[in-house]
Amino acid sequence: MKTTIAICGHQNTVENTSYRYTKHCVKVPCEDGVLLCHTLTGELVLVGRGEDSESTTQQLIKSWFLVPEDFDECKWADEVRHIAKLLRTRNSGKSHFTILTTTDCNARCFYCYEMGMRRYTMTAKTARDVGEYIARVCKGKKVTISWFGGEPLLNREPIEIISRALQERGIPFDAIITSNGYYLDTAVAEKAARDWHIISAQITIDGTEENYNRTKAYINCDEQSPYRRVLDNIGHALDAGMCVNVRLNMDRANADDLFAVVEELAERFGPRPELSVHVALLKKLVGDIHAFTSGEEALSYRNGIEDKLRELGYLRETEYHPGLSTNQCMADNDSCEVILPDGRIEKCEHLDEKEIVGDIYSDDRNKEIIENWKETVRFSNCADCALYPKCVSLKKCPWMQEGCSQLRQISQLKRIEQMIRNYYLENRDRMDGTKHDEVDIENATGGSRW
Ligand code: SF4
Ligand code: SF4
Repeated sequence: MKTTIAICGHQNTVENTSYRYTKHCVKVPCEDGVLLCHTLTGELVLVGRGEDSESTTQQLIKSWFLVPEDFDECKWADEVRHIAKLLRTRNSGKSHFTILTTTDCNARCFYCYEMGMRRYTMTAKTARDVGEYIARVCKGKKVTISWFGGEPLLNREPIEIISRALQERGIPFDAIITSNGYYLDTAVAEKAARDWHIISAQITIDGTEENYNRTKAYINCDEQSPYRRVLDNIGHALDAGMCVNVRLNMDRANADDLFAVVEELAERFGPRPELSVHVALLKKLVGDIHAFTSGEEALSYRNGIEDKLRELGYLRETEYHPGLSTNQCMADNDSCEVILPDGRIEKCEHLDEKEIVGDIYSDDRNKEIIENWKETVRFSNCADCALYPKCVSLKKCPWMQEGCSQLRQISQLKRIEQMIRNYYLENRDRMDGTKHDEVDIENATGGSRW
């Protein structure tokens, strides 16, 4: 946020000019007045009840909340984003590696986008080569590894080899994992936290016991109830010191059932700061899903579950920050690479073998594919959306092919409003009695992307 503010500078007041609120402002009423959040600069100000003094107006102009009537804030946001990207590129090396230890999986979810893709696994030799590659390109900087698949824990040897290679070379690293949780028993969870430096695991739950077991359809499984086993394993991961983020995949068929899942999680784990839960709407990519009849219906279910999660303290809304985003994800970020099981490199973790940009054995990269991934798209509702500075949508991203529905737009707005409210409640003393205060939300929340 400081970089964005430095790029924007302060706006000077121009005499005889009529000013209006920027479209890139989210307003949240609160007890003391109204909180204004600028989604380009990330600044948050509290305008006290009934406060409309000249000094407030001047302050709001200075910090770009008020802009001239004919100001083009989308063009302004694009220019600031361009400069921020140039600054970031200048400082970046390779620091984030998504590694697929295998494309195989022990589950057969009906909605899986990897359905029908070739199943292959990383060998010990390739894992050693990956370790050497990372050590060479990270240039001693801290590395984050994202273990992905398939089911990454189905092939644990590469995780062990690569983690050891980084450890032996004194390269600081931490890791996250996307897993179905089936193999995360006590021994694996302890090893994951201790030796593999896994700080966070995302585990998907698709419904209560019967629905979950039917949806996951685990193969080669002698477990009577994989659901029970995965819930046990969530406990093991938490006990080992990892954060666990439970992803509730939702479509119309399991929407009602997910309320019961939330209750069961609460009953079993109680409030635990390391446990968070979020709802993800299933999209039809390869497998069939049971679609909602309308966006409103989906939104109402999602809101209902999120309200419950909020009440239980499982929704991590403070992880979102409101300032400018310069990229969408790993695909348009030069510091990120996706390493396939045979050492080839892609930009997007959700595509298979179609967009190879190079491999770990050479520094040659297909620049055309890399640049193509950075191409962005705007939708008809973007021009008037308060979240414009916050949003980068990649033209090639499979999740962006249907545009931005009203449902998505509203739920993104709702998230940021809730985050602002949470921040205000936590920092009220600091803001209380101050007619006009500025708060650095990004630093307060660790600056993570939403
Ligand atoms: S481009 Fe889309 S699908 Fe690919 S990694 Fe980014 S968000 Fe995921
Ligand atoms: S993609 Fe959606 S949320 Fe983002 S700016 Fe456009 S309309 Fe708003």
